[in-house]
Amino acid sequence: MEKLWHNLSVDQVEKKLQTSKNGLSEQEAQKRLKKYGPNQLPTAKKLSAFKLFINQFKSPLVYVLLGASLISCLLKEFNDALIIGLALFINALVGFIQESKAEKTFLRLKSLVHYSAKVIRDGKTQIIPSNQVVPGDIIILEAGDLVPADARLQKTYNLQSQEAPLTGESEASHKKNEILPANTNLADRENMVYLGTNIAQGKGQAIVVNTGLKTKLGQIAQLIKKTKERSTPLQKKITSLAQTITLILAGLCLLLFAVGLMRGYSLTEMVLTSVAVAVAGIPEGLAIAVTVCLAIGMQNILRKKALVKKLVAAETLGSVDIIAIDKTGTITKGIMSVDQIHPRAQKNAKDLMRIGLLCNNAIVENLEKKEMRGDTTETALLKAALDFGLKKEKIEKIYPRLDEIPFDSQNMYMATLHAQPENKEQIILVKGAPEKILEFCNLEKKEKKEIKKEFEQLTQKGLRVLAFAQQKTKAKEIKKELLNNLDFVGFIALKDPLRPAIKETIKNCQAAGIRPLLITGDHKLTAANIAQEIGLSKNSQPKILDGEELDQISDQILAKFLKSETNNIFARVEPRHKIRIVKILQSQNHIIAMTGDGVNDAPAIKAADIGIALGSGSEVTKETADIILLDDNLKTIIEAVKTGRNIFSNIQKVVLFLLSGGFSEFILIGGAILLGLPLPVLAAQILWVNIVEDTLPAMALSYEKEKGRTLEKKNPKKKSEILDKKMKRLIALISLSTDFILLALFAHLYKINWNIEHLRTLFFAALALNQVLFVFSCKNLKKPIWRYNLFDNHFLNLSAVVAILLVMGAIYIPFLQNILSLRPLIFWDWIILFAIALFNLLVIELGKITLLNRESLPSKKIK
Ligand code: ADP
Ligand code: MG
Repeated sequence: MEKLWHNLSVDQVEKKLQTSKNGLSEQEAQKRLKKYGPNQLPTAKKLSAFKLFINQFKSPLVYVLLGASLISCLLKEFNDALIIGLALFINALVGFIQESKAEKTFLRLKSLVHYSAKVIRDGKTQIIPSNQVVPGDIIILEAGDLVPADARLQKTYNLQSQEAPLTGESEASHKKNEILPANTNLADRENMVYLGTNIAQGKGQAIVVNTGLKTKLGQIAQLIKKTKERSTPLQKKITSLAQTITLILAGLCLLLFAVGLMRGYSLTEMVLTSVAVAVAGIPEGLAIAVTVCLAIGMQNILRKKALVKKLVAAETLGSVDIIAIDKTGTITKGIMSVDQIHPRAQKNAKDLMRIGLLCNNAIVENLEKKEMRGDTTETALLKAALDFGLKKEKIEKIYPRLDEIPFDSQNMYMATLHAQPENKEQIILVKGAPEKILEFCNLEKKEKKEIKKEFEQLTQKGLRVLAFAQQKTKAKEIKKELLNNLDFVGFIALKDPLRPAIKETIKNCQAAGIRPLLITGDHKLTAANIAQEIGLSKNSQPKILDGEELDQISDQILAKFLKSETNNIFARVEPRHKIRIVKILQSQNHIIAMTGDGVNDAPAIKAADIGIALGSGSEVTKETADIILLDDNLKTIIEAVKTGRNIFSNIQKVVLFLLSGGFSEFILIGGAILLGLPLPVLAAQILWVNIVEDTLPAMALSYEKEKGRTLEKKNPKKKSEILDKKMKRLIALISLSTDFILLALFAHLYKINWNIEHLRTLFFAALALNQVLFVFSCKNLKKPIWRYNLFDNHFLNLSAVVAILLVMGAIYIPFLQNILSLRPLIFWDWIILFAIALFNLLVIELGKITLLNRESLPSKKIK
């Protein structure tokens, strides 16, 4: 029977799980890890290769093909049936290879996301990978942490957890550690925390009771079958596009069939031909090609040290035109150090350092090497205190912590309550943003003013200034109300050096048409100093809005402020302001990427189009984000955007290539029927061309690499459309123009009595070779073909060679020649083919240059 942990006292739980206040010993923990297994839920199982292959046949497009081959069999046209079968097989094979590759990439990327947990083992706080947590472990939970396993709470300080993933309740639930009745609902078990939930506020300590599959979430997860990776909006759009085209083609082919019959072509001939035209036109490779583009893109982004967690991100990424940057850690190194100490009076210096040490949650990992973990502000203070000569363990023993108001970005301070030796009263220690702390202090107006001046001087230099205060109290618990009449102890100014080359990165960012916004929790003056130093603002007094001002202005005024491209700085910002800024920018049709690391950044990161978490950030932020910056570097984001744009343009190339080919056979054959000519190419020949053109070259296009080192300027303002007007026109131009030429040529050569089988061979080859050449035109849609390196994509080169071999084989190998009713071509035929291809290329290139790259000129207004 399930144990009712919430119904037991903390001591009972401790006893049952054979653990203590000091946690498990490392040895015991390893033993339990062996016994209970790693604390993880099974990842989605991979589809077996066989299933994946069979899946390739589960598409409406394939059903059409299967129907077609059945019809061919019924008409005793076994050659056609054979070729359709071959087309199906090759298609499935290529699809299978690509999809398994894509899936492998996704799984690999997923496995790279690591989460960690804070545990007490052997009496020491340690950070370990979440999957190493075992029953009996004592875990420490702080705002921003993911709860690593199911656990019974021992201690709570204002602890609130977000349990929506488990209970559906969106409001944070308050936690305590009292015993609850046995029949308490899961959602009301206030003394428990569960895997899959996260800590919204406060702090707590708990005993792990269940891990992995034994957790509540694990039990639910077992019930849910493998969910497939959600398709992205783009993938959905492409799939529906492919379906629309299939429908249109089906309609057109019915028409072709009817007209053909009326014009006296035989039934068999018309059935086979219209089916073949439909089959050739259907862009069956489209959807998978898009997936492959995304998968390859994600892998390339990873190489640049950014981990794309969700597929969605890759395509939106290319359209980003605003990056909202959290200063700390992205623009700066995120490694703080104490720069100056300003005790109020000389005798206060030791008190100041002691508050820095005690009112602090950073952990010392290695005392000799001074290695610490935790918030960078706090590690800096801890280090300074140790350097000052304070002994952490000793002082913590003298002043044990009784209670805490944890730091959060909204309050901008942290307070702790400590016992004092010799039964003296308790003492409150506070540190935080100076404006906040000064309000709590028992200072006279004049003193306050002087102190304010002093800290503003420091902030102007770009330093982060923290104020410190303390007071004795009789209270046993700490509450916000107690924070008044405190004794002001002094300031500490911290320095966070800028990242090297950040100025250049900001410049590149702007050059690429991406507007950087600096959003920081720091003071206005600190922000102004840094903005100027990194070249974000030209003068020393840029317009900056701070949190207080943001609260006072309306959305309209904020929108107006944001419209001006030079207003880019926000200071003393709280997380909710970030959301507001994101929402307003989105309503102006911007695509926003937002970075964050803190606990409360998660909602804003979720709201942004691309949420970016710093690799060093809190667990919740990492879980919410679309992208994790493994190296915390702004430059990486820009590289990722660059790759995002490349993904987009590769998809565009594939779409152009596959769709342009689609209608060609239709026009050629439809035209011939209308003119009363024999069919220029036969059904089997059309199908063969389709194999040549639709599979390999299209796939190879996904591997196109980005060109050029700098990011070109782009100002999308809106999400770019894959198939915008220009693209549609180009597709229409390409399919129409080349086919009319082919049709005219066919009509002429037929009139002057060329042998029809010979002619068909010629046109078969022309259709196929045009496609092979066309794929090289698609390599770069921005430049004419003679202006870029044609052969830098090995896959493409290879696919072109294979395609040409398939055409030559069909023409010259007797067996294939027979099946496809082809004749060997002579020298002069190749000259004609060459001329056709050249002409075709010329039209496409002209179309590319004129249609795609001509900026729509602004029509001059005449007054
Ligand atoms: P940022 O995004 O710039 O890091 P934060 O929200 O983390 O902004 O911090 C806002 C302000 O809160 C800081 O400028 C500082 O004054 C104060 N602060 C930051 N960290 C702590 C901390 N650990 N304890 C107390 N105060 C802090
Ligand atoms: Mg911070």
